[in-house]
Amino acid sequence: VSSPLIVANWKMHKTVRQSIAFARELLRRRDEIPPGIQEVICPTLPALYSVSQVLAWSGIQTGAQTLDLGREGANTGAVSAFLVRETGAAFVILGHSERRNLYGEDDALVAEKTRSALDAHLIPIICVGESPEERKRGRTDAVIRHQVRAVVEGLTERTTTALVFAYEPLWAIGTGQVPEPDEANRVARLARTVVHETTPQFDSDLRILYGGSVNAGNASGFANAPEIDGALVGGASLDINQWIGLNIAW
Ligand code: 13P
Repeated sequence: VSSPLIVANWKMHKTVRQSIAFARELLRRRDEIPPGIQEVICPTLPALYSVSQVLAWSGIQTGAQTLDLGREGANTGAVSAFLVRETGAAFVILGHSERRNLYGEDDALVAEKTRSALDAHLIPIICVGESPEERKRGRTDAVIRHQVRAVVEGLTERTTTALVFAYEPLWAIGTGQVPEPDEANRVARLARTVVHETTPQFDSDLRILYGGSVNAGNASGFANAPEIDGALVGGASLDINQWIGLNIAW
């Protein structure tokens, strides 16, 4: 596909000030990022507008870490895809395992949120991945098939819009453990195959990322995997030096 997509998921980290400071520093040090890499920064929601403003027109894009259904209305505490788009964000992470496990998001909700994102012209980054138990029981492929299909089945009527999946095995998130790049590559290929089987129209604009303990030291292994189009990065995206180092290593 196109250029590698490297996405920073800051999760519930950094104050607004710290987020803005990071974005400014990133702009200042842009020349260190290899040309052709598409970077996306996903700060906390309170910082998203400001970070998007700092990075506007820079080519570095921003995203939210989740969204709520609907557009505008009496939904206390909710932030819709439309409102995320209004901040200047172009992407949204959906179905992260932390959302699935801590906030009870299931496949059906992730599918609905994906449609909502596409309606608002946000590019969804949908996370899929097996738990350690599922891996032990040899269920990895079945889990990936199920999670990918659940989202894509709801999109068969759509015209082409960019779609991103991130393969994030739960046992690799925040643990320092990573799968062999060959294994991640195999699962990425499976995810791509399931999308193609279910709906052919995302052919051109489908990207599959790997996520889980990616850092400057192991990035090149995933970068060299032909089915992997980029990375979704947690811990190593919080420090500017690690982040730039990872982009250089990719
Ligand atoms: P870590 O990079 O900290 O393992 O987090 C991965 C992740 O969950 C990104 O969404």
